[in-house]
Amino acid sequence: MAAPRDCLGAVEEEGNSGRPGSSGVEVVFPSDPATPAPLCPHGPTLLFVKVNQGKEETRRFYACSACRDRKDCNFFQWEDEKLSEARLAAREAHNQRCQPPLSRTQCAERFLKFIELPLPLRKFCQRCQQLLLPEDWERHREHRVVGDISAGQLRRPSQLLYPLENKKTNAQYLFAERTCRFLVGLLSALGFTRVLCVGTPRLHELIRLKALDDKKFNIKSLLLDIDFRYSQFYMEDSFCHYNMFNHHFFDGKAALEVCRTFLQEDKGEGVIMVTDPPFGGLVEPLAVTFKKLIAMWKEGQSQDSSHKELPIFWIFPYFFESRILQFFPSFCMLDYQVDYDNHALYKHGKTGRKQSPVRIFTNVPPNKIVLPSEEGYRFCLLCQRYVSLENQHCEHCDSCTSKDGRKWSHCFPCKKCVKPSWTHCSTCGRCALPDHSCGAPKDGCFVCGESDHKRSSCPKIAASKKVNKAVRKQKQRKSNKMKMEATEEQSMNHTSVTRRKKRRERAHQYLCS
Ligand code: SAH
Ligand code: ZN
Ligand code: ZN
Ligand code: ZN
Ligand code: ZN
Repeated sequence: MAAPRDCLGAVEEEGNSGRPGSSGVEVVFPSDPATPAPLCPHGPTLLFVKVNQGKEETRRFYACSACRDRKDCNFFQWEDEKLSEARLAAREAHNQRCQPPLSRTQCAERFLKFIELPLPLRKFCQRCQQLLLPEDWERHREHRVVGDISAGQLRRPSQLLYPLENKKTNAQYLFAERTCRFLVGLLSALGFTRVLCVGTPRLHELIRLKALDDKKFNIKSLLLDIDFRYSQFYMEDSFCHYNMFNHHFFDGKAALEVCRTFLQEDKGEGVIMVTDPPFGGLVEPLAVTFKKLIAMWKEGQSQDSSHKELPIFWIFPYFFESRILQFFPSFCMLDYQVDYDNHALYKHGKTGRKQSPVRIFTNVPPNKIVLPSEEGYRFCLLCQRYVSLENQHCEHCDSCTSKDGRKWSHCFPCKKCVKPSWTHCSTCGRCALPDHSCGAPKDGCFVCGESDHKRSSCPKIAASKKVNKAVRKQKQRKSNKMKMEATEEQSMNHTSVTRRKKRRERAHQYLCS
């Protein structure tokens, strides 16, 4: 429901004043929902309210939790709208049709067939992003197909698949080698034995590669992601098709149990959750989901460890710090700059156009998290954490105050450290860019009034655009005829646990050989 990652590039000089007459869209979580939320193809929808001039409009509506673009999911329903039986049935049919054509089990079975083929027969269709079995070749005859897919390629699906580029719904930003290796090394140094990867396919992949490579490296990984292309490469116990905005497992109870078992293994010892959600996503639904995963982990705890917290790395831009801390007050933001392969703007240090604004938020004690000294990070004794090279300890604030990696300077009237480009304005009574126009609340976000980002990167703006469009469309609509795309019906195929285990072993044998 919000700004795509790319717009973050526009977040440059954040102001610090809000605008009272702002509008946008907010998610509401009714404490006592009268009715369960209706379902779209992406699971339960979320309840939204439009906020105009700081006031909530009274009519609330349901919309898709995952898709920030109507083109991807056009679900819209007023909260108080009554639907006819016929429309409900049509919606149900539509939801069914939108599911992936193959069940999770069928995907796993196809993978096993695929790895039994001799190399020259192992083809991958780039257009359909699909591993092909000989019986599929004919249908992809005119597509661009690559052959000789090796075991090495199968182990690195994030390189074989192209990153999804749909800016609004599912832009995939894959960790650069530097960051991914750092994370894997860190997780191992911290002694974790299981990593729940929520929206981190490349990290999942690297953990598995490392475990194959290095017998001493003993970490298991489970990937939860909405990108079901990954289901072609992993067995059911290492990938679940999942929506992190509503904690929805597309493959139902069996998948939920995979996740539960993973979290609760060893009485919950040794597990960490690492997540890198789309930045456009709203923080609150993510927090609600993560609390559900935490609760799932907690169920498996013994009484005497009830005070413990599930270790979490939440990777997100630094200007969401206050939002994340609202939901997870024990979290601390690390100085480490997370960077991405396919994001030209955000490269570490001086090579990219800008320094990456993406950080790690965590409840792991920051003094245990050693940041690479070869990149200039150093330990601040007073703060008891590693900080970036230019981040200086301010004696007035009693902390290393820089958020963006540059050296910040203390402003006495404001009683805090501010960005180097800011100067104190006596007219406004606060720090701002020297060329700001006094009195105008231009620096803060025009949409939501928050001070830590601009309109162009407001987490609410895309949502409000989408909703305005949706509302307009809804009003126009006289008869509701759903367009139905004909895709294959999903077949429910339950495999027994033992069969599954056998298949897993076969796959494992292959990938380890
Ligand atoms: N840096 C990570 C990828 C982060 S990009 C890595 O290299 O491993 C965001 C990821 O979240 C993508 O893999 C995307 O498919 C996934 N994602 C996007 N929306 C999601 C949703 N609603 N539920 C679950 N995963 C989602
Ligand atoms: Zn949807
Ligand atoms: Zn310090
Ligand atoms: Zn200071
Ligand atoms: Zn000031």
